[in-house]
Amino acid sequence: MHKQKSALLGRRGFLQGTAALGAILLGGPSVANARLAAAAAGIRAQDWHSLPRNDGSTVTAGPEYLGGDFQLARAADGSFEPGRTFISEVFQSTGWFNMVGMHWVADVPEGTTLELEVRGSLDGTVWGPWTPVGHVMEARGDEEVPRGLETFTDAVEFGRASAMQYRITLETTDTRLSPVVRRVTATQIDALDSPGLEDLDARGHAIPFRVGNGGAPTARLILRDGPNGWGPTNFAPDSPYYWEPYAGVYPTQFVTIHHTAWANNPENPVATVRAVWYYHAITLGWGDVGYHYLVDQYGNVYQGRGGGHATEAGHVSRYNHHNIGVCLLGQFEPGAPNVPPGGEPTAEALDSAMRMAALQSAYWGLNPLERAAYPKPDASCRPQLVNHRVCGHRDWGRGASCVRTACPGINVYKRLPAIREQAAALIPDIKDFHLMEILKRG
Ligand SMILES: [Zn+2]
Repeated sequence: MHKQKSALLGRRGFLQGTAALGAILLGGPSVANARLAAAAAGIRAQDWHSLPRNDGSTVTAGPEYLGGDFQLARAADGSFEPGRTFISEVFQSTGWFNMVGMHWVADVPEGTTLELEVRGSLDGTVWGPWTPVGHVMEARGDEEVPRGLETFTDAVEFGRASAMQYRITLETTDTRLSPVVRRVTATQIDALDSPGLEDLDARGHAIPFRVGNGGAPTARLILRDGPNGWGPTNFAPDSPYYWEPYAGVYPTQFVTIHHTAWANNPENPVATVRAVWYYHAITLGWGDVGYHYLVDQYGNVYQGRGGGHATEAGHVSRYNHHNIGVCLLGQFEPGAPNVPPGGEPTAEALDSAMRMAALQSAYWGLNPLERAAYPKPDASCRPQLVNHRVCGHRDWGRGASCVRTACPGINVYKRLPAIREQAAALIPDIKDFHLMEILKRG
């Protein structure tokens, strides 16, 4: 995933590092089309804007207000106490939601930290555990907060909830300084009104994910659009695909493997894919999902980013040109902070990731076993790394690169050599590119 932080930085470092991200925000003119697409696809969200107050209260406000003033308490001599916790009111939705994305505006001086946790409840009475919000993301947001002021993190998956609550912990190592929290927003995403895999099959338009040999495919290729699509579908043909000024078509030279770092084995992976799309496209303000393809635990492959198969997407900050992103649903880095427990990828998911890598390699004439230099190096944050044609997100994080991530998790990463070998062995058997012809259209 687009992790801007990883175990490499340590949990304490990541929220301190957010100011640096502000200078390199991405985004485009509007997420209006994405909102239309979400509505048509039945994906809903509710934003709770709250202003944490120093007296312990929360004021619920509109998006234009930044009037929170929660900070560390002062001792008698005026210095700040070393730590303080704030627990919000309960945000009770009128419906269900399966995902919460937290974003906030706060001053966090060097030497101080802000940590945010959330918990969810099915009924507002029995609560799940406090869960730290995920890693800081590059985002522009979709509201009127000036760019760079607001900090976004990865979303937290609840499965199904109707209520949530957040907890802030402030700490300082310099008693002259305190963070100040101006506003906290909880975006509750409801992608539960989603077809299941059996519904897609029942529509009778399933496309077998058949690549090369290996017998009858058991996995599906699930497009965004059309009768077998996971939606959203109504991007107008003349609408801009956002992510300007970067959007463009760059013939594929690399296939990069990711994980979402969300829960493993989601009950309905279609709903998870829809929530990933919403969070990237609208909450983070990207206009579309960051990955070209997503792979569930059954090996089903979901078409991601619109615009055609070699359109630049947003999955490796600064290395998105000529680079296809294939993301496994799940968290595969045991012991990683701020995310669900790490697990093992299924054989089906690994097989489909391998077959997609083989298909891309065969189509574009790439040798998965070969290493190559990234073709568009620039300033210090994007040195000309030499990587395998089929590599992992973390491979783009070496040297002076700004990328810092454990993605796709060690339990996937350690299998990349085998995936490269299998893909290279499969390529001579790939004579049929009808799937690429389908995906070419986007
Ligand atoms: Zn990644």
